[in-house]
Amino acid sequence: MASIFTKIINGDIPSYKIAEDDDNYAFLDINPNSKGHTLCVPKKEVDKIMDLDEESYTKLMAFSRKVGLAIEKAVPCKRVGMSVIGLEVPHVHVHLIPLQSMANATF
Ligand code: 5GP
Repeated sequence: MASIFTKIINGDIPSYKIAEDDDNYAFLDINPNSKGHTLCVPKKEVDKIMDLDEESYTKLMAFSRKVGLAIEKAVPCKRVGMSVIGLEVPHVHVHLIPLQSMANATF
C-alpha cells in the first residue's frame, strides 16, 4: 500500500506544495512545530533514511538545503533546523523547521 506521502506526491491527498523537482517533493507539515515547518520527501518510496541509495540521499540533501535556504529568506527566524526522524510515517522525509530559539526546538 502506498504511504501517505506517496498519496500526497501523487495528488491523491491535498498538500501545500513548497517545491518539487524530478526526484523530490516539499510541502508544509500538517502539524507544524513552527510557521513554515516543511517536509522534503523523495518521490521514490523508501522507509528509512539509512536505506536510501547514495544518489537519492545526495539529491534529497541538496534539495532540502535549497528549500531550507528559501525558507530562511521567507520566514522570520534565527535559523532553519534540519532533522530526519521518521517514527510516524514510514517514507523518508527531512523536516525543515524555522527556529526562533531552542525553546521551540521540540523535536
Ligand atoms: P515523523 O515520521 O518524522 O515522526 O513525523 C511525520 C510528520 O509528518 C509529522 O510532523 C506530521 O505532522 C506530518 N504528517 C503526517 N501526516 C501528514 C499529512 O497527511 N499531511 C502533511 N502535510 N503532513 C503530515
